[in-house]
Order: sequence, then structure tokens, then C-alpha cells
Amino acid sequence: MKVLLVYAHPEPRSLNGALRDVTIKALEAEGHDVRVTDLYAEGWKSEIDRADFPALASDTRFKPSRASKDAFATDTLTADVKAEQEKLLWADALILQFPLWWYSMPAILKGWVDRVYAYGFAYGVGEHSDKYWGKRFGEGTLAGKRAMLVVTTGGWEEHYSSRGVNGPIDDLLFPINHGVLYYPGYDVLPPFVAYRVDGLGEAGFEATAERLRERMRALATTTPIPYRRQNGGDYLIPTLELRPDLETADARGFALHLNGATQ
Ligand SMILES: Cc1cc2nc3c(=O)[nH]c(=O)nc-3n(C[C@H](O)[C@H](O)[C@H](O)COP(=O)(O)OP(=O)(O)OC[C@H]3O[C@@H](n4cnc5c(N)ncnc54)[C@H](O)[C@@H]3O)c2cc1C
Repeated sequence: MKVLLVYAHPEPRSLNGALRDVTIKALEAEGHDVRVTDLYAEGWKSEIDRADFPALASDTRFKPSRASKDAFATDTLTADVKAEQEKLLWADALILQFPLWWYSMPAILKGWVDRVYAYGFAYGVGEHSDKYWGKRFGEGTLAGKRAMLVVTTGGWEEHYSSRGVNGPIDDLLFPINHGVLYYPGYDVLPPFVAYRVDGLGEAGFEATAERLRERMRALATTTPIPYRRQNGGDYLIPTLELRPDLETADARGFALHLNGATQ
């Protein structure tokens, strides 16, 4: 497989830096082709602004989604964004690796999503009508490809359990797994999460690295999270609410969007 690793940590000698190297080695040992986007090392520009749309006239009101749509349609997106889109189209699998910062991804990675996921590329794809609400959540430009998160946290696993004070990790990662990865069509694999890493030490590192190698060996075969397809009949269109008869008694919130399962 061809694998793109998008990596967000400012320090190459960090734990994340070491785990990135473990990932690359494990994937290459399996015969996969690996490309890396190292956001800090490459000085990725994280904010969307007018500079992203050189074709936009200086007296035109800047509306980001409109500018994105026009620039994608006329092939005038900036070279850094086009290069990332090309890598996404090249890759059979995408891995986003980052430390959990304030319950989410670092700003530089969010900015990669904001800029690379252009209108017409990741959203605004396909017919939008009263019968069909765009190619998304199970369909889209990146359908047929796999994606997964590799995340480190300072908090303990218990802090992210169903009764943990931070909230369940599957809920915290839902906006990324479902909103960012499933939206443009990826089959999303369960995340790799290394908890309580701040005092990891050598033995802890080796155990974590081995767990990660195992996930990389299984990248092509791991069963994806069974999210429901938006246009597969489970949702009312255009309200996009789950059909009431499909609700299971014990599923609430994000877990409603899992096919026949509870979280
Ligand atoms: C702005 C900010 C917000 C945060 N928000 C959250 C949050 O919302 N929730 C949460 O849970 N945590 C949060 N944290 C904590 C953060 O998630 C962790 O500090 C981070 O995941 C650690 O990853 P790192 O790569 O920076 O680790 P590092 O600090 O580089 O390393 C951590 C430990 O791993 C070991 N280690 C490192 N490198 C190696 C190596 N090569 N070999 C062997 N052992 C090694 C060492 O024991 C080291 O102390 C936050 C931190 C910041 C800075």
C-alpha cells in the first residue's frame, strides 16, 4: 500500500518523533511505500487567508468557502495545498499523528485540514438535493482509502474511559474520525492511542512501540469503525437525522452514528 503520514510535533527528539520513526520502519518492513508530511519541519502555514487565493481580486469580499470552490475549479490553489491534495490522492492510507493538545489536534494540523480540504475536493462534492446530500460520510473523493489516528496523551486511559472526567476518547476523537476522515470518504480505523506518556521511560516506550508496530502490520486488514453511510438509507434527507426506528435504546450522541453497535 501507499501510505501518507501527516505528522505534527515541533520537536524531532520527542516521543512523537520516536513513534513516527517506529511507524515508518514498521510500514516499510511490510513493503508499504511511505511518504511523510512533517508539518513543523516544513513550516506549514496553518491559517486560511486571502494569500491562499492569489486569483481573488483585491476588492472582492473574501468568503473562504466560495474562494476555495473557485480556486479548486480553476486550479489556482497554492502549490503547497495542491501538493498535499496530490499526496492524498496518491495514498491508499492516511495516518494523522499528533499529541493531544487541549482535547484535539495541534493548531498546525487543524490548519492543514482547513487548507487542504478544499471545496470540490473534500466537501461540496456531488449532487445536493432533497434526495441526496452530497458525496460525504461514506462517499467522496477519498472513498476506498483507509485512515487512522496515532495520538499520545498526558492523561491516563481511565481519564478517557466512559466515566472518566475528560470524556470518552471515542467521543473526543469523533469530530476528527467522523467529521474530518469519514466525511470525504475514508474508511476510518480505530485510533492508536498512547495514554499517560509523560513519564513513559524506556520499558514503557518499548511496549508502546510494539503496540504501534502491531497496528502498522495490520493496517491493510483492520476492520474500520462501522459508521453509518449518510446516503445509505439510515438518515432522513434533507434533515440528516437518524431514522427514529434505527435508534437503539442504549445508544446516545455520537454512538448513534455507528451501524448497529453501541460504544
Ligand atoms: C498545549 C498542550 C496541551 C495539552 N493538552 C492535553 C490534553 O488536552 N489532554 C491530555 O491528555 N494531555 C494534554 N497535553 C499533554 C500532551 O498530550 C503530552 O505531553 C504529549 O502527548 C506528549 O507527547 P510528546 O511527544 O510531546 O512527549 P515527550 O515530552 O517528548 O516525551 C514524553 C515521555 O516519553 C518518553 N520518551 C520520549 N522520547 C522517547 C524515546 N525516544 N525513547 C524512549 N522514551 C521516550 C520519556 O519518558 C518522556 O518523558 C497537552 C500538552 C500541551 C503542551
